[in-house]
Amino acid sequence: SSKPGSGLLDGLDPEQRAAACAPRGPVCVLAGAGTGKTRTITHRIAYLVRSGHVAAGQVLAVTFTARAAGEMRTRLRALGVEGAQARTFHAAAMRQLRYFWPRVVGDQQWDLLDGKLRMVGQAANRVGVNTEAEVLRDLAGEIEWAKASLVGPDDYAAVTLRAQRDIPEPAARVAEVYRAYEEIKNGARLLDFDDLLLHTTAALEEHSAVAEEFRDRYRCFVVDEYQDVTPLQQRLLDAWLGGRDDLTVVGDANQTIYSFGGASPRQLLEFTRRFPEATVVRLERDYRSTPQVVELANTVIGAAKDRPAGSRLRLVGQRPDGPPPRFAEYEDETAEAEATAHRIRELLDSGIPASEVAVLYRVNAQSEAYEQALTELDIPYLVRGGERFFDRREVRQAMAALRTAAARDADRRGDLATVVRSVLHPVGLSEQPPSGGAAKERWDALLALVELAEELENTVEAPELARYVAELEQRAAAQHPPTVEGITLASLHAAKGLEWAAVFLVGLAEGTVPIQHADGDSGAIEEERRLLYVGITRARERLELSWALARGAGGRRQRRRSRFLYGLLPEHHPAARAGRPQPKAAGKRTSCRVCGCTLTATMEVKLGRCTGCPSDVDEDLLARLKAWRVERARELKVPPFVV
Ligand code: ATP
Ligand code: MG
Repeated sequence: SSKPGSGLLDGLDPEQRAAACAPRGPVCVLAGAGTGKTRTITHRIAYLVRSGHVAAGQVLAVTFTARAAGEMRTRLRALGVEGAQARTFHAAAMRQLRYFWPRVVGDQQWDLLDGKLRMVGQAANRVGVNTEAEVLRDLAGEIEWAKASLVGPDDYAAVTLRAQRDIPEPAARVAEVYRAYEEIKNGARLLDFDDLLLHTTAALEEHSAVAEEFRDRYRCFVVDEYQDVTPLQQRLLDAWLGGRDDLTVVGDANQTIYSFGGASPRQLLEFTRRFPEATVVRLERDYRSTPQVVELANTVIGAAKDRPAGSRLRLVGQRPDGPPPRFAEYEDETAEAEATAHRIRELLDSGIPASEVAVLYRVNAQSEAYEQALTELDIPYLVRGGERFFDRREVRQAMAALRTAAARDADRRGDLATVVRSVLHPVGLSEQPPSGGAAKERWDALLALVELAEELENTVEAPELARYVAELEQRAAAQHPPTVEGITLASLHAAKGLEWAAVFLVGLAEGTVPIQHADGDSGAIEEERRLLYVGITRARERLELSWALARGAGGRRQRRRSRFLYGLLPEHHPAARAGRPQPKAAGKRTSCRVCGCTLTATMEVKLGRCTGCPSDVDEDLLARLKAWRVERARELKVPPFVV
């Protein structure tokens, strides 16, 4: 087409394209995981900039994690856009605050609070509240929730009672700790993360000159993962907009996983009420995952209670079939970690790059068993995934140093790898690797650059430094990191928005997924279900789900597999039963009313369920499972089995 910038839209489907090239103004993309929301907004920014509708410097895009922001900047650069801002809410606010601070507050200095728990501890101490680590964590969580929800210490007690929050101490006591925390922090001229947002909002709301300057500079706003926006973030966004409506939001209500921190999909779902003239696009095609993975995701989220209107889309897989998802049950957690490491070893040996493999878990404490098991098999890993390789600080420093050296045309002292090694020495590539932790991770990243030089020497005759740097730049643009980067270990929360070819979802046992403290709180249980949905939808091809029946190694405490697995396991699947002889019904129930497996033991027949299934599955879930089985049986053209 002859429109400038339209060739850029070739990689989008018609609905994505409609959102990407909608006229400036409110746009809302409401769609499931892997349907290309992030891709669509990145293309929208590129389209608006390249077709001259807006200058790159006038765009402010906010995403949820630093890694996602880095990824968006890389994608934008690859689409030929330089200078558009892509940041987290906090990073954007911090920059703005630093800039406006002298005018708003004067020359008083401030610093970021480091060690929040310690300060909450001081506050708790001052008002005489329990200072056990666990209580402090909960108190810090409450303070965060309150600030993100725009609730001050004076209103805390009333609001939290209305919200029926599960709190560590009586509400009035929590409020006292909250007030003391604010006093101590402000007295020390420190700002916590939420203060960055609060102060930036206040600066824009109360200082018209500041607001005018800001609004003159930024004219086009884009928000990814809008389902997890907090009232505080929304207020900041509104201050940015200042009554204007050039706002594109994308999100998936089924991926709301921060409601414990005050986030809510309300803003996403009510976007059209606020902007009746908005362009609204719904996407259903899942481009990320194989149909088998998509099917699992649909099943998990299809069983969710209270799905708000607008979140009931079913994903339709677009990719060719892949390997069936695997389910594995282990005796204890150590066995689970070891077996997972072995599976990963097999995958790596079969040629899957380490950067394409992730182990995702519910709580960070779970990573330890995996770190150990991976180390034993010599599998490199990165905890929490960090940022993208080329966005890592030491890699950026290394690239800068290499660029400078290449420009100076360093006469070049031995082979390429030696030259690279010597350039990287001052950046942190010491002779001996550090013993472990973050320092070792940084060292490994730098070493990866040397290994890349060795690789180049093997393919090109006498490569020059400039040639090597060009190769690096190319890889950076294509997000093609050196493979030695390692597999990713990350929590389900940290995995949001990301994707890997192979994903291991581990620890799917009751008490972990759903997490213990969610028990008995149906809202919290549903959030756990959405977390699992987020986890499943990170996988492009391979998905393995596992759980252990006991804690630790040889643990005696028995655990049950996660309630969310009912209806997912292959033996719950009508196809798995199609060939099996159906037990004769003799007045008594012969198949488990929960999972549908054949009952053999007399006791099980009496109970009407197998001993592997819980007795307290609610009728509502059973009814949905039944409907789902009938529907699946129809799709697969096999006789339905109904328990
Ligand atoms: P999430 O909800 O997990 O954040 P998302 O909706 O933001 O997912 P993206 O990350 O943008 O999805 O896209 C998922 C994958 O599908 C990416 O690998 C992306 O490149 C690919 N993809 C998206 N749209 C298309 C398309 N039209 N053609 C081919 N691939 C696509
Ligand atoms: Mg996304």
